[in-house]
Parts: sequence; C-alpha cells; structure tokens
Amino acid sequence: MKWTKQAGLTRRFAVAGAMGAMVAGFGRRAMAEQPAPTTDRQGRKVEASGGGKLPDDYRKIDPDTGEQKAYVVLTPEERAKGFVRPVRTAYTHLRCGYTTSMSKDIAETFAADPKFYSTGYCSHCRTFFPLTEFVWAGTNDVVGS
Ligand SMILES: [Zn+2]
Repeated sequence: MKWTKQAGLTRRFAVAGAMGAMVAGFGRRAMAEQPAPTTDRQGRKVEASGGGKLPDDYRKIDPDTGEQKAYVVLTPEERAKGFVRPVRTAYTHLRCGYTTSMSKDIAETFAADPKFYSTGYCSHCRTFFPLTEFVWAGTNDVVGS
C-alpha cells in the first residue's frame, strides 16, 4: 500500500511539472509574438510615451537601467478629454524614500485615469513596484488612488 501511494504522488507531481513547463513556454511565445497594443481595455487609443507607435517589444527591460524600452500612454486626444486627478510629475517610493520624476504624458495619463498603470518605476531601486508603494511627492496620496 505504501508503494502505491508514493507512486501516485510521484505521478501527480510529474504531471503538474509538465503542465507548468508547457504553460510557461506558451506564455513566452505568446508575449514575443503579440503586437504592441493601439488601444487599452476600454478602447481608448494609446501610443508610446514621447509620441509614436509602441514598439512590439516595448516591455523589454534595459539591463543597465531596469527601465522598459517604452511606456504606454493615452494619446493626446484621449488625455484632452479631461483629468480626474491633478497632473503630478513625481512620486516617492515609500520603501527607499527616493523620488522619481516622469514625463508629462505619463503624468497626464495618471491624471486622466489613476488606474491606468499597475506598477511604478523607482529610479533609485531601478525596478518596478506595485503603485501602493508610492505616494505623489510632497503628499500622502497613494499613486493610483
Ligand atoms: Zn525605491
């Protein structure tokens, strides 16, 4: 009986391992082949920060800076429809205490839709963190709220 139970466990683990590998492989392929979006989930037009079309590999991380190759922003026309928050161009990472500035089009995208982004880049830590780890500089307002 003991042997049977162990064999059963082994088989389950093996199946789970194979499934995990298959899903991971599929995810990588899907990401590489997926063209950059031209609209967000709500159908609003998006472009690259600084203007122009997003490169397909815009999420690629620069190993020197930890930054993405390009950032998604709402187009100027979409941003012109109005802001629901003030335009703020710098946030402070609560974990390290350093403040990071952002370009005007990213700041305006935050102001148009505080939930547009889910993570923020910290120029001191050189990587991304959940927005709940950031407050707008000089305030206690959590970014994304
Ligand atoms: Zn930081």
